[in-house]
Amino acid sequence: MRQGAFQREVLRISVISGLGLAAGLSVQEPVLGLLGGLAVSQVISVRIANSLYRWAHRKGDAPQDNGLVGYSADRLVLREKNLKARLLKQATQLQRYSQGIESLQDGVIILDQDGHITTFNGAAVRMLRLRKDDAGQHIKNLIRAPQFVRFFDKGDYSEPLQFDIRMLSLQLQITEFGLEQKVMLIRDITEKKRVETMRQNFFADVSHELRTPLTVINGYLEMFSGMDIPAPLARALEQMNSQSTRMTGIVNDLIELSKLESASSERTGEWFSINTLCHEIVDQLQSYRENSHLRIKGNVKAEINGFPQEMRSVLSNLITNALKYGGDGDVIIGLESSLKGLTISVKDNGPGIAPEHINRITERFYRVDESRESEVGGSGLGLAIVKHALDHHDASLQIDSTEGVGSTFSFVIPAFRVR
Ligand code: ADP
Repeated sequence: MRQGAFQREVLRISVISGLGLAAGLSVQEPVLGLLGGLAVSQVISVRIANSLYRWAHRKGDAPQDNGLVGYSADRLVLREKNLKARLLKQATQLQRYSQGIESLQDGVIILDQDGHITTFNGAAVRMLRLRKDDAGQHIKNLIRAPQFVRFFDKGDYSEPLQFDIRMLSLQLQITEFGLEQKVMLIRDITEKKRVETMRQNFFADVSHELRTPLTVINGYLEMFSGMDIPAPLARALEQMNSQSTRMTGIVNDLIELSKLESASSERTGEWFSINTLCHEIVDQLQSYRENSHLRIKGNVKAEINGFPQEMRSVLSNLITNALKYGGDGDVIIGLESSLKGLTISVKDNGPGIAPEHINRITERFYRVDESRESEVGGSGLGLAIVKHALDHHDASLQIDSTEGVGSTFSFVIPAFRVR
């Protein structure tokens, strides 16, 4: 105890000084004796302090003393021992974390707040060909793919990035933590992408292959259309005509979809007037349905940067759907500028779409009412085309619909694509 050590310290000084005093008294020199005693006690204290100094510099053992210095040294030894045990525990834990990160199939790179690499695992080394001494380097010096650099600088990491580097297709997700530090998770999706490309190619090939026989069939059907055909055959011919037109529609939509899917993400768009495009489409579709009137609301003179053919397809599909499924009321095409960009909407007063279908209607071949809609003649691919084409314009489709009231399909072309 500290109390005991203090008392022992005082006792030692008192005993030595007392002995000095007694020795002084025996020769009639009490003051000298007392001073001598104090000097001896001071020498002992300096020797103990010296052994503490040497121990502190790791040049000897801890002072073996039962006074204050010895007590303090014992406490320090204990504290050092506890600290070492704690450090060891933390080091073991840290090692376990690193082993866990190391064993991941996905690449992990941890960045400091300035974007310099703090640490990374073996999978990241394999995927990005990093070297051990790359720690400390800025991430943009090591991943130079333009898509990555743009993504990193933009600072919006809500969606993962897909990019190709050498022979690999990678998906990269950034999560921020602590003080603007970042952890990057990198997944090798080369195989997944290969299978996806195979699927896309298959669809593209099949659609192209179907085109020629369909053209031949349509040609013959057209030939019959002017002829005088007996009644039972005329009914069959009518059915053949309508189905073959439908099939042509499906094949054309499939071809359009595969073109959209395989379009390079490195394409640069062009500026075009959205107002003019809307008017062209409205003029074309005005007579599509007798009882519905098409109206453009808002006179935005803006130009947007993108792909006019794809935007034409987006608007045609949305307006045709509004005319097909939107009952007899008017269809309103809205154009509205805001800080966010340009909002384009297509609104109808039709029967609307039940909530359980809304999330699914952009899937390929998904239709709300198969029997009713096969009569209307859709392929079920229109909204899948819209979704893809909007993706190329950094926009996404928003569907607001109330059953019995109508539906509004809208999207926002972001401000950086509008002038
Ligand atoms: P399709 O080519 O068959 O029209 P889409 O992908 O364009 O296919 O649309 C998918 C389904 O979404 C349609 O079959 C229809 O049920 C529903 N739908 C699309 N637009 C509307 C709308 N304006 N009102 C009601 N239902 C709609």
